[in-house]
Amino acid sequence: MINSLILLIIIISIVVFITLGFGTWWAHQLAAKLSAPTIQLVKETKNTTKNSEVDQPTLEVPQSPQEIHELGNAFNELLTAQNQRLQREKDFVSNASHELRTPIAAVRGNINLIKRHGDKHPEVIPESLDFIDEESLRMQNLIENLLHLSRADRAKVILQDENLSEITEQIGQHYEPSIPHKMILDIDPNLHISGNSDTLKQIIVALLDNANKYSDDNTPINLSLKDINNKVELSVTDLGMGIPDDQKKLIFQRFYRVDTSHSNEIKGSGLGLSIVAQLVKLNNGTIEVLDNHPRGSIFKIIFDKI
Ligand code: ADP
Repeated sequence: MINSLILLIIIISIVVFITLGFGTWWAHQLAAKLSAPTIQLVKETKNTTKNSEVDQPTLEVPQSPQEIHELGNAFNELLTAQNQRLQREKDFVSNASHELRTPIAAVRGNINLIKRHGDKHPEVIPESLDFIDEESLRMQNLIENLLHLSRADRAKVILQDENLSEITEQIGQHYEPSIPHKMILDIDPNLHISGNSDTLKQIIVALLDNANKYSDDNTPINLSLKDINNKVELSVTDLGMGIPDDQKKLIFQRFYRVDTSHSNEIKGSGLGLSIVAQLVKLNNGTIEVLDNHPRGSIFKIIFDKI
């Protein structure tokens, strides 16, 4: 009896021991299999983070389990957005430096000309000074626009009840005497929106500046403010050169200028409309550009009416 009991205990101990050993090994295997995709994703993320200088490549996403697959895809979307932002910043810096280099080179060239030939040929001085004046003004405008843009990027304006009819009327009347165009004001009274008056004025002036620049002097410019379907629509319409369909979205990008021989003769930096777009967004509006008939453009901004 005692011998059989001891044998039974030994057999039970061996079975328990083997089961425990196998169970532990199996649990390890299962845990490793389950966490492998997570570990792979963590490794990929760490490798990608190390390359912070270069554009972040996207991660290789495990197909299963579903949660890790979705997490990987979400990471990739974040990385793509980040890459696009980085690229935009790089383009911005390189465009800004390119745009600034041109007037600086012109100014330096003319200063050297005066230094070298000013004594013997004083007649070059007034012409060179005019050139320096013009180019330094261009530089000043460009820097001001860049500052506007960076402020608009970070700005959080305080929105309050504004009478947009009064603001538009006031700008229209002040602006007309300074341009060679006839201005037609068509403003519904007492239209209120939730906005910021300084930035709203800046938007209207920028659109009128463009209408003035990109249309012939003998054509009228229309500034209108209408209550349409309980929204407030502000439009600036000209009879100018118009904007080709494929470039209508692009003109709101920084430094973008429509490339035609005619528009190239007109001075500008390609920053005005990107500032306008930022400011419209700050005022919770939307902006679009449409064709005017028989020609020219309509810049239309829509705000919520209050
Ligand atoms: P800028 O006028 O300094 O070049 P903007 O950002 O204000 O820069 O405008 C971008 C481009 O959009 C301009 O270069 C011009 O080609 C085009 N554009 C803007 N407004 C008009 C307009 N009213 N009519 C025709 N083209 C326009």
